[in-house]
Amino acid sequence: FVFDSLSEGLQSAFKSLSGKGKLTEANMRDGLKIVEESLLESDVSYSVVKDFMSHVTEKALGKRVLLSLRPQEELVRIVHEELVATLGPVDSSLHLNADRPTIIMLCGLQGSGKTTTCGKLTQLLREQNIQPLLVAADLQRPAAIEQLKVIGDQLGVPVHTETDHKDPVKVCRNGVDRAKKDGNRVVILDTAGRLAIDEELMSQLKMIDRKVGPDQVYLVVDGMTGQDAVNSAGAFNAALELDGVIMTKLDGDARGGALLSVKQVTGVPIKFIGTGERFDALEPFRPEGMASRILQMGDMVAAAREAHRIVDEKEREELEAKMASGEFSLDDFKGMMQKIAQPGLMGRMMGLMPGMSQFKEAMESEEAGGQMRQIIGLIDSMTPAERKNPKLIDSSRRTRIANGAGVPSPMITQLLKQFDTMKPLMQIMAGKGTGDRLSMLRQ
Ligand code: GDP
Repeated sequence: FVFDSLSEGLQSAFKSLSGKGKLTEANMRDGLKIVEESLLESDVSYSVVKDFMSHVTEKALGKRVLLSLRPQEELVRIVHEELVATLGPVDSSLHLNADRPTIIMLCGLQGSGKTTTCGKLTQLLREQNIQPLLVAADLQRPAAIEQLKVIGDQLGVPVHTETDHKDPVKVCRNGVDRAKKDGNRVVILDTAGRLAIDEELMSQLKMIDRKVGPDQVYLVVDGMTGQDAVNSAGAFNAALELDGVIMTKLDGDARGGALLSVKQVTGVPIKFIGTGERFDALEPFRPEGMASRILQMGDMVAAAREAHRIVDEKEREELEAKMASGEFSLDDFKGMMQKIAQPGLMGRMMGLMPGMSQFKEAMESEEAGGQMRQIIGLIDSMTPAERKNPKLIDSSRRTRIANGAGVPSPMITQLLKQFDTMKPLMQIMAGKGTGDRLSMLRQ
């Protein structure tokens, strides 16, 4: 039965809804485990997760639970706060010089989005009426020079290229001289990348760094690559003195956990994040939003919002009142089932909740849909009194209902168990506690 595997996860994930009282080591352990899973699922590297968790545990243990918060929520709040602190501080300034051209050097592996990011930074500067000069210093791939030229044409900025020799240091120096002569306030160096880190690439970048003296050296990292991002960031940071990181491709499914790892490994500020292929898809980095995304709490809020779309305000109030007074009946259960049995909805919600993503596929399966319909059929075979008060259902009633629905009687026991299991989920759907969560995330 699909719902059985779900029950355990649900119970631990939503203990917070019923568990009032003190933050004990035991209930914190559950919460910490969910947080840890969440971080690992978000692609934060294992060692970083370990460090982070021990730090958080230490911090949380000394803390009193605020009266207004449930223990698990207090824990999540602490974790969120720590994530924000670790991901920050915010610094998306390009630190432009007043008296001479500011040289920005972009480096990163091939395909990380370096050249695209040149275009994005150009767009950002153009919005401030600054005309940068782009320098095509990737002499490894002839196509790279072409690509930068196209970007320059699209955005209406000059591109310095030299195709006749193979020394990127010279090209960069000539580019900087040209910018001084032409009065460009910013020079962006698009350097060569490789598919993997190698000595030659590193020594070439070190040469440019030493001989051209960029004011800002930014590493461009592909946010989709998870663990690889961490390794390359470590290598680049050892070779060059990085001033910042730009993480690209965070518009996709990537949870962005690599950001936390990269930040831990390099210690330099995350300047921007790339959220698309277009030149306007560059955002200043905001630790709060990112922390929610890594923790998937933002998604939890999204899940609650989606649920709100399906259950209207009046229904929600009625449900909440029934839950509170213990009058939530099997008829209500059936009503909710019918609503959430919409194709794909349950799966989507599971995917959005922390620690629940392993149930996503199961809930999206044909089997789950069939089981929900079966549950609805079983409830239909009960008397109104039974639906109102399931405690009435003793073994002889079980047999009668099972015969009526044409199923074995243990299925009735199963159903009643699920009724209890699903209650917390219904509670989420009814919006209980959602307000607290939202306000907590906004803090
Ligand atoms: P380079 O080899 O490092 O110069 O990488 P490119 O700039 O050529 O980018 C490689 C690919 O990634 C291209 O197809 C880009 O359109 C794409 N890309 C770059 N940044 C982003 C981003 O933030 N989001 C998405 N979805 N794609 C990106």
